Amino acid sequence: MIYLKTDEEIELMRLANQLVGKTQAELAKHIKSGVTTLQLDKIAEEFIRDNGAYPAFLGYNGFPNSICASVNEQVVHGIPSSQTVLNEGDIISVDCGTVLNGFVGDSAYTFCVGEVSEDVKRLLKTTKESLYLGIQQAVEGKRIGDISSAVQSHCESNGYSVVRELVGHGIGHKMHEDPEVPNYGRRGRGPLLRNGMCICIEPMINMGSKNVVFERDGWTVRTKDRKWSAHFEHCIAIRSTGPQILSSFEFLDEVLGNNVI
Ligand code: MG
Ligand code: MG
Repeated sequence: MIYLKTDEEIELMRLANQLVGKTQAELAKHIKSGVTTLQLDKIAEEFIRDNGAYPAFLGYNGFPNSICASVNEQVVHGIPSSQTVLNEGDIISVDCGTVLNGFVGDSAYTFCVGEVSEDVKRLLKTTKESLYLGIQQAVEGKRIGDISSAVQSHCESNGYSVVRELVGHGIGHKMHEDPEVPNYGRRGRGPLLRNGMCICIEPMINMGSKNVVFERDGWTVRTKDRKWSAHFEHCIAIRSTGPQILSSFEFLDEVLGNNVI
């Protein structure tokens, strides 16, 4: 069942998502060599609570922390740990969610730890571009497959592969609502996009093969070939005027300055 949101509800969702963007910016200040992913988790949790919200991920299906922190070959759902120390040249995908006024915000960004290789920069740039190409297709009257196909074709034409096991999703009072938003698919297929739909588009893109492994911790997903993976996610609303991005990378862009990929 797809729940269409009113203008008032979309504004509340925007507020929840803007807080995710501000949390990502707070994390951007601290992402450097030597920091642990558990330290980042605590910073995010405190920031979210200080802003009158609570972390959407904490306790979700038993997830133990407030952010997902996935390093290098980890695709998504990495559990923050005091044992996971960031090193120069790493990448870390941070997925973050808030609940504010009963609505969920959800957005992800892959950060560089210091200077990363040119190959890795190209992966991040392509993945981020594919997110915005997907968003361009999020127009009333088009279909989910138009978004999926735009993401897939951009990434595959650049030599990367698209994870199949995990997909984007509708969002609202719950973090995961209908419809599913795959990062692969065919134009003109899938559910019709309607004014008031809110969805998360979140390409998870691998440098090597598309195959992933689910780790024994019950959460972490990594690439099977251990080549690196990137993840960018925006929450958007479909409006009669075009796609409205409810989350924001602008706050973290300000922190990263010239280092924005
Ligand atoms: Mg997310
Ligand atoms: Mg999501």
